[in-house]
This record gives sequence, structure tokens and C-alpha cells, in this order.
Amino acid sequence: MLKSEYLNNIYTGVVTRDPDQREFHQAVLEFLESLDLIIDQHPEYQQKGIIETFVEPERMICFRVPWVDNQGNVHVNRGYRVQFNSAIGPYKGGLRFHPTVNLSILKFLGFEQILKNSLTGLPMGGAKGGSDFDPKGKSDSEIMRFCQSFMTELNRHIGQFVDVPAGDIGVGAREIGYLFGQYRRVRGSYDAGVLTGKGLSFGGSLVRTEATGYGLCYLTQEMLRHMRNDSFEGKTVVISGSGNVAIFATEKATALGAKVVALSDSNGFIHDPDGIKLDVVKDIKLKRRQRISVYADEVPGSTYTPGFRGIWSIPCDIALPCATQNEIDGETAKIIVAGGAMAVAEGANMPCRPEAIRVFQEAGLLFAPAKAANAGGVATSGLEMSQNSMRFHWTFEEVDSRLKEIMINIFHNIYDASVESNRPGDLVTGANVAGFLKVASVMLAQGLI
Ligand code: NDP
Repeated sequence: MLKSEYLNNIYTGVVTRDPDQREFHQAVLEFLESLDLIIDQHPEYQQKGIIETFVEPERMICFRVPWVDNQGNVHVNRGYRVQFNSAIGPYKGGLRFHPTVNLSILKFLGFEQILKNSLTGLPMGGAKGGSDFDPKGKSDSEIMRFCQSFMTELNRHIGQFVDVPAGDIGVGAREIGYLFGQYRRVRGSYDAGVLTGKGLSFGGSLVRTEATGYGLCYLTQEMLRHMRNDSFEGKTVVISGSGNVAIFATEKATALGAKVVALSDSNGFIHDPDGIKLDVVKDIKLKRRQRISVYADEVPGSTYTPGFRGIWSIPCDIALPCATQNEIDGETAKIIVAGGAMAVAEGANMPCRPEAIRVFQEAGLLFAPAKAANAGGVATSGLEMSQNSMRFHWTFEEVDSRLKEIMINIFHNIYDASVESNRPGDLVTGANVAGFLKVASVMLAQGLI
């Protein structure tokens, strides 16, 4: 229950309008709980209907995606693009290909993306899209045909000044390549800035692949330094997932002196008490596209356990959930606390349920929410867009140092906002408030309503 009647009515309206969209309700409620602390200082939001406008997407596009498999059978998936808010820049946000994709998940992701993009300090609005297509077990040509069909419809809704998609779960460099190829073909125009996460040979940015995982560690390192006078050095780290974010979080945490001892996928987790050998993981996941269980077959001393939630029973100092939404509930959070953790930072979007966040905060753990902690991916996408506009490439070191600076700025921005909201150190509140105030002031200035 929110203190403000105005905010309560907004939340009730959101739930009543789309009663089945539970992930979206969860994201909106967390946001409104943060605003509850500052709403009295901003009567103009209520007068101008800013918050009720903010929780409704500007546009939701839904389309069919027919494609033919290698046996000649026709399949029809559903494609989406939720263009949530374009007050501070063109819509920007990833595409997710996963069987669980639906409007609730894309609305929650698009909503969080508005706040995340605002926190980066770059001019990008918020969006998300994707399809309920399952890329697992599909051949390369099936993936290509699906991407081509998806882009045959999506192309009319995007553009470098309109909406710039990128990758997410199930959409990596290979898929972005096929999507870009189809965009170029149907539009007859080489608009490099229409997608980010492109291959380096056709307008991609160095560090984009590593950016979300690296950025997560840069922000976590700054949080440890500023709030505990500590660092990754000598810490034991558990990371869930074994995709793009998890792999490069492992790489950077290890480079910063930590020992990463576990990774997972949706079937189970591996534990290597000597520290994960990342070259083996990269070979299994990025080259051979196999399951993470193969690691235990190839690395002596490591084990594989079926069931992905079990990973959190491994004691650690720092937990970095990097798989998917809602993987850590209240009970799992208690296990992480009992294992002696000092910090949790979200690499995935909304991996911790609200009751889990409460458990961490009440136990005094540092907690960095996704919209700040994993903003490095979209921030580097913003840098890719800048390089495309300039028709110029920065070096790896140059992009990496900009990414690091952005993540450190995000940490201080949200920490300061937590102090100003009278919740010092509550970075969930800080991220929601800091991200929102910027977009809201632009919505007021542009007279969007
Ligand atoms: P990938 O597709 O590269 O990897 C996803 C990983 O999470 C895989 O190991 C996958 O296992 C696991 N996973 C997916 N769904 C589930 C599930 N339902 N239960 C358990 N494990 C699951 O995706 P990314 O690494 O790109 O994305 C991971 C998270 O990070 C997502 O929440 C995404 O939104 C977020 N994110 C990604 C960004 C990026 O730049 N890529 C930017 C910001 C946020 P399996 O192979 O078995 O499916």
C-alpha cells in the first residue's frame, strides 16, 4: 500500500487495465514505492498527469512472424515492439527471443529501460521488443530465416532517429547481423545507426560485447569502494547464467582480483572451487553453443548439478544474478545472506523479487538494482550510435574508459538521489528517483500532455 492516494490510484489503474501483466505490475509498483517518498515535493506531476502518462507505453506494435524450418514446415511466431517513452531521445532497448516473451515481460523491460537509459546521461528513450521464438536447437539457416521475417515487418517501425533496437536474451551478434542485413535489403539504405551490437566490420563498437558484464563490475566496484571502503580483490563471486552478461562479468570480476566459482543455465549450475576457467566457458558457450554442463565433463575438480536455483546455495561474498527475471525469491535471498554475502548487484533485468530485495536490505547487504547496474550495455550502444554518426571508430581503451566513467557517474548519481530521498544507501530508490526526475522534467518542458 502506497502512502500517496494519487500513486495508489495509478497503481490500481495499471493492474485493472491489464490484470494478467504481473511482471509489469511488479516493475511499476517498485517505481511508485520510490516516488512515494518524494511525490509531495512535486505537485506539478499530479497537476500535469505526468506519472499516469509515464506508466503507459506511447505505442505497442504486435505482428506475426512466419518462417520455414529446414524440413519445409511453416511456423508462425509473434513479434513485438513496445515503444515506451521517447521524451529524451529515440526509443532504445533490446530484442529478446525466448518462448516466455509476452507483453507483460516486454512492458516491464521497456519501462525499466526508460529509467536505465536516463541514468546513462545519454539521449535515449525506452523500448523493448522480441518474439516468443525459441532459438534453442535451431540451425543457423533457421535463425537467419526467422530474423529476416522478423525484420521484414519491424523495419517500418524503426530508424536511427526513431527507434534503435539491440540484443538481449537469445539475440547476440549473429542475430543482429541477420537483422541488419534484412533491414538494409528491404530499405535499400545503409543506415548503420538503426541497430546496435553490430559486428565490428559493419559499424559495431569495440567493448559492446563485453559492456554489460564489465559495466556491472565497474558499478559494483565503485559501490564497494564508496560504501564499504572495499573491492572485488580476494572475494568469492557467484554468477548465475552463462550468456553474454554472465561471461563478461566473470571476465571483469576475475580481472579485478575476485574468484568466480559458479555459473548456470536454465537446466543447472557448475561449481569450480578453484575458480571458473573462462576460456573453457567461452569455447563451450560462444563457439560450440553447448550447455554449461559440458564444463564439468572437461574440467577436473568441477561439478554439475541439475536445477538452476541451487547455484545460490554456494556461499559467496558477492552475488551477481545475470540470467533472467525473478530467479531469486525471498527464501533464496535468505540462503544468500546466510552464506555470508556482503553485496548483490543485478546483471539481469529484475532477477530479484521484491521480497528478496527486502531481505538483502534488512540484512545490511549492499544492493545495486538492474536499471543502474546493467546500464553499461545500453550506454555502450549509445557510444556505438555516436561512432556511427561520426563515421569513426574509437579504440577499445577509449570506449572502455568512457564506459567506466559512465558507470561510476551512475553510482554517484543514484547514491546522491538516495540521500536526497532520505534513504541513504537505498540504491533502488535512488535509481528510480534519479532516472525519473530527468525524464519527467523533459516531459513537462515538452508539454507532452
Ligand atoms: P543470453 O541469451 O546471452 O544468456 C542468458 C542466460 O540466462 C543463459 O545462460 C540462459 O540459459 C539463462 N536463462 C535464460 N532464461 C532463463 C530462465 N528462465 N531460467 C534460468 N536461466 C535462464 O542473454 P544475456 O546474457 O544477454 O541476458 C541476461 C540478462 O541480462 C537478461 O535479463 C537481459 O535482459 C539482461 N541484460 C542484457 C544486456 C545485454 O547487453 N545483453 C543488457 C542489459 C541487461 P539457457 O541457455 O539455458 O536459456
